[in-house]
Amino acid sequence: MIWLFTLSYCTLSSTNRMLKKILLAVICLTATIQLSAQIQPAPDRGEGDGPYDKLILRGVVLIDGTGAPPTGPVDIVIEKNIITRIQNVGYPGLPINESRRPHADEKTKVLDLEGHYLLPGFIDMHAHIGGTGQGTPAEYVYKLWMAHGVTTVRDPSAGNGLDWVLGQKNRSAKNQITAPRILAYTAFGQGSESPITTADQAKAWVNQNKAKGADGIKFFGAKPEVMEAAISENKRIGLRSAMHHQQLDVARWNVLNSARAGLTSMEHWYGLPEALFQDRTIQDFRLDYNYQNEQHRFAEAGKLWKQAAPPYSEHWNNVMNELLELDFTLDPTFNIYEANRDLMRARTAEWHEVYTLPSLWRFYAPSRQSHGSYWFDWTTEEELQWKENYRLWMTFVNEYKNRGGRVTTGSDSGFIYQLYGFAYIREMELLREAGFHPLEVIRSATMYGAEALGLEKTLGTVEVGKLADMVIVEENPLQNLKVLYGTGAIRIDENNKPIRVGGVKYTIKDGIVYDAKQLLADVKKMVEEAKEKENTSLKQPGLDW
Ligand SMILES: [Zn+2]
Repeated sequence: MIWLFTLSYCTLSSTNRMLKKILLAVICLTATIQLSAQIQPAPDRGEGDGPYDKLILRGVVLIDGTGAPPTGPVDIVIEKNIITRIQNVGYPGLPINESRRPHADEKTKVLDLEGHYLLPGFIDMHAHIGGTGQGTPAEYVYKLWMAHGVTTVRDPSAGNGLDWVLGQKNRSAKNQITAPRILAYTAFGQGSESPITTADQAKAWVNQNKAKGADGIKFFGAKPEVMEAAISENKRIGLRSAMHHQQLDVARWNVLNSARAGLTSMEHWYGLPEALFQDRTIQDFRLDYNYQNEQHRFAEAGKLWKQAAPPYSEHWNNVMNELLELDFTLDPTFNIYEANRDLMRARTAEWHEVYTLPSLWRFYAPSRQSHGSYWFDWTTEEELQWKENYRLWMTFVNEYKNRGGRVTTGSDSGFIYQLYGFAYIREMELLREAGFHPLEVIRSATMYGAEALGLEKTLGTVEVGKLADMVIVEENPLQNLKVLYGTGAIRIDENNKPIRVGGVKYTIKDGIVYDAKQLLADVKKMVEEAKEKENTSLKQPGLDW
């Protein structure tokens, strides 16, 4: 999502009580980004077992993340946090060949997981660690991610401040907190005392950002000479970058300009239709458009793809092929716009009742101020336009993948009724809808994410020598991605009674085994306590029942 830290914090927080409102208005005028938008950091780790000198996961069916089909049963040996052996131990339907099994001594930890599916840990490429506007403590966000198998996240903008994120990154790396691995991509210009308006200022900020320890930069837009200087300097000094091409700057700097300057990944989709224009140069904005009116912003965006060159036309092909040649990554975050095509689906997702904090629910509610809460006049017409918008967008993304392009999995949760963790699985379903084979979906969620982050030597696949980040689930996720949701998938038992199956069982990060269902139970408790404390329940907008 696009947001401006100080602005969004100020506008969002001031929806609270009167006194707080006045106080915050003062704070908002004076506070720095770092001071104004920090959420509560995660407490010391109380969850997870290990790492073990030797851990053997016995009898799993392996989906390794490379695109290889499932194979099993295999035994996987992990020593401390490294995968040291993957041993085939038999054939489906036959007893395990015990003589082939890796040896366990009395100190070895063994998990018997016969028939379970094992995948690499998931990488969420667009993962804001909550915000004060959402009222989401880091523990809540991390546990929802980890409960859904997410073991690495890229924080695109470091909205809680770079120092804060680096502190959490460091503690996560040492496994002092229950959290995925964290990469910090600072919002361009964050912390700068004055606006960056020249190429020299841009280069100076980029170098400072690296010196502070950031992993990369998240851009939103700026004038061309600043963009050019910042992206190319960042690349020269070896860091990576992501960009949400916001509508205010796309007329003069679109995705092609970024890719040519050396941008690593584009977020969402803005700036790509603009690169595909052939019979116009500016989006056909309604004439009373105002960017600060999000109803305008998102409704007009729903008409954008059909203003671009049609699929498989010459211009469409040329743009795609140039992006492919530049080894450019697409991180579509399909899910975060899904309410645009089906608002009720997003609002009434079954997990909200139990897992959505009341503060987050209030943040989602229709408002002229909160970012992504433009639901005060969302009509059938807008939903239909967005359905068509999705079709054209998905066609591009799927074909990009078919021609060898890297497409990753990012959720952008915490906005527009999309909940951490759950929305990541929804993103997988939407890649599937775009045309990806489930194995291609898993590859996007794992190996391609690691490649896009420059972590492919240690993460992204289940292979000997790599770090032990893994997802274990009782059901086959290729047959039904829904089994990865914390709420599982619906089946019916022999008594004709509906039941749930699946839900990630264990998430392993850095050789430490987390009980994914317990993490979800912790979140459930946090939500119950918050509701009790605030004496509130979840109500749909405008309804008092
Ligand atoms: Zn975002």
